[in-house]
Amino acid sequence: MSNHYETSKTIGVEEAIDTILSFTKILDSERVPMLEATGRVLAQDIVSDIDIAPFSNSAMDGFALKAGNTEQASLQNPVQLKVIGIIGAGCVFEGVVQNGEALRIMTGAMLPDGADTVIKIEDVEVVGESPECPEGTQIILTKSVEHGKNVREKGEEVQAGELLIKAGTVLNAAGIGLLAATGNPQVEIIRRPRVAIMSSGDELVDPSVLPGPGQIRNSNCYSLAAAVKAAGGLPNILGVVKDNKDEILAAIQNAVADHDMVFISGGAAGGDYDFTYQVLNELGTVHFCKVNMRPGKAQTLGIVENTIVFGLAGNPSAAMVGFEVLLRPALRKMQGYKKIKRPVTRACLTTDAFKPDFRRFYIRAYMEHDRESDEYRVTPAERQSSALLSALQSANCLVVLQEGVEGSAKNENVACLRLDIDEGIEI
Ligand code: AMP
Ligand code: MG
Repeated sequence: MSNHYETSKTIGVEEAIDTILSFTKILDSERVPMLEATGRVLAQDIVSDIDIAPFSNSAMDGFALKAGNTEQASLQNPVQLKVIGIIGAGCVFEGVVQNGEALRIMTGAMLPDGADTVIKIEDVEVVGESPECPEGTQIILTKSVEHGKNVREKGEEVQAGELLIKAGTVLNAAGIGLLAATGNPQVEIIRRPRVAIMSSGDELVDPSVLPGPGQIRNSNCYSLAAAVKAAGGLPNILGVVKDNKDEILAAIQNAVADHDMVFISGGAAGGDYDFTYQVLNELGTVHFCKVNMRPGKAQTLGIVENTIVFGLAGNPSAAMVGFEVLLRPALRKMQGYKKIKRPVTRACLTTDAFKPDFRRFYIRAYMEHDRESDEYRVTPAERQSSALLSALQSANCLVVLQEGVEGSAKNENVACLRLDIDEGIEI
């Protein structure tokens, strides 16, 4: 690419995303306590050290018996079995259930030797003492019981040494339960990317400061840090650098040394005080600096020492949409996720939506499901200026109007990039 910002070509959104992804690798792994692995990508296979269930056990409170003993049972020909004892979960019954006998058994208790089936307590008539005090108690059955009924077999879920969850799987809450059950309290997962976040602008002051004349508060560092965190990354806010080439250069050089990605917002266009492009050109290679999107055309991809240094547009909403569209997929890929696209839902526009120019337009909007018509309806925020964050705060999606179209009329069905759902299946 030429050294001149002005003559650099504007590239399409997909090409920009693909270029970023081509410089993105899956990170190495870290070992964490199992609960920290929730929603993260496994970097190891999970093998069980034991059979699960570890022993055949009862799925019900009832009586353990031999199914064969009940074959002839009917209303006319009730079968009577002698209760020989009682067993709860965590106990081992030393005896053997013989023909004509039953053992009172609780859910989760180990099936005793000799028994192959459990009948629910509700399905028998108990005579004699109470079932909790079995001596002298009998049970009467008027129906046969299917062999193996209400028994959870040993090794039913997994057998010792068997592969249960493959590396690359995203662990959900059930997966964490499986880690616990299979003796994996610590687990190897893909680590989170460390992302340095800074902003350049002589007008920027800290959020705790009341801005003086000509100053504004630095909001981008914080909105971007929150977005990085929501994407699973570890943001490190490095704060504001002045619109000074040497300062920006030094800050980027430092950041690259110990981060997986570096973001700098502001100074991304070709103005007299915009240095991102120049600095990245000097420190490394610039792959693009204009993307055919609105908001946020000024988006710069630089590679410095194999690290992505991304110059985001300075306008608060443009920086966020730029992150969402261009960078979030890369952060997800780095964490090992295979699904890196937010779901897109189609919805019916409640108003006309005009496009101010030929670029792809990401309209900040709110979509809802209308029960009566059973359809999704989407309403663009009234003010779409790239400077305004509030339209994004109240948005749950971005309506995507493609490059070619002039706009979309009320009641048209449009694609909505869902900001309220994590990456997953495309709806
Ligand atoms: P620039 O890309 O530097 O021309 O900035 C575009 C607009 O975004 C200007 O109005 C800046 O004041 C504003 N801006 C840049 N950085 C930030 C920031 N960190 N927080 C809030 N606004 C910013
Ligand atoms: Mg600036």
